[in-house]
Amino acid sequence: FVIPDFQDFIKDVEEMYWAAKSNSDGKVASYIPQLAKASSENWGVSICTIDGQRFSIGDVTVPFTLQSCSKPLTYAMALETLGPDVVHKYVGTEPSGRNFNELVLDYNMKPHNPMINAGAILVCSLLKTLDRPEMTLAEKFDYVMSFFSRLAGNEGLGFNNAVFLSEREAADRNYALGFYMREHKCYPEKTNFRECMDFYFQCCSMEANCDIMSIMAATLANGGICPITDEKVLRPDSVRNVLSLMHSCGMYDYSGQFAFKVGLPAKSGVSGAMLIVVPNVMGICTWSPPLDPLGNSCRGLQFCDDMINRFNFHKYDNI
Ligand code: GLN
Repeated sequence: FVIPDFQDFIKDVEEMYWAAKSNSDGKVASYIPQLAKASSENWGVSICTIDGQRFSIGDVTVPFTLQSCSKPLTYAMALETLGPDVVHKYVGTEPSGRNFNELVLDYNMKPHNPMINAGAILVCSLLKTLDRPEMTLAEKFDYVMSFFSRLAGNEGLGFNNAVFLSEREAADRNYALGFYMREHKCYPEKTNFRECMDFYFQCCSMEANCDIMSIMAATLANGGICPITDEKVLRPDSVRNVLSLMHSCGMYDYSGQFAFKVGLPAKSGVSGAMLIVVPNVMGICTWSPPLDPLGNSCRGLQFCDDMINRFNFHKYDNI
């Protein structure tokens, strides 16, 4: 076992869970009504180790939309199907130092990285246009869903159509980003702009829960082999690239501070979810809707701080 004393470890996880539960900081995202009605009481933590030991506590089976947690997944899929050279002809690997939806491109007029909106929209255009271009939108949706599901040990994902429709209605900034990139010829030729935007909103609107997402994180912790099914879903080099950018760009404008304090690759989303990877040990998913001013889940951040104080999981801890 990678965590030999799993029962002891679980005791700590439970303490950290209850400590964070009483944290009432933060505000639930309100830019669309479907997110605004999420309960600020919801709080769940799921863990899946690379040898398949599992533990979860709290609201771990309540579905939430992936939102920005879909970004490392679409990026992983693009790396896997198109290879890093193709993907990074179109999108950079540098933190933007700006808001996740800021109207800005890098000095090459490419999106800074795949973990912010511009980069994720671009990755969606690559998946849509370059990988199996003969597929219809419907087929492409199934194809992506089943890829995500393989990362999650074949657990089924859901889709929240109300969130999708709302996201698309409230997407002035995302359209602005999309058009700005089109002006600068960022997309591959033959990109259908509307379809690409819809595809991005669809990825944000896919649904999962803590239990399912912890398996995805564990697949990333395990070099791309799903610990539940033993299926090799991602190549090790794809995983390395995904984790590198989660490490430097995964937590919005807190990414540098998170890398300093916690030292683990992670990705947060506006629904309050956080994917956290402890490479070669385990995947963690936390979910709690109240967000801090930078957009990260307050309880999720507290949990990570607490964990790093108790265990030497920080990348630069001396083991
Ligand atoms: N749907 C959101 C958007 O594109 C996702 C962003 C997020 O989770 N931060 O604005």
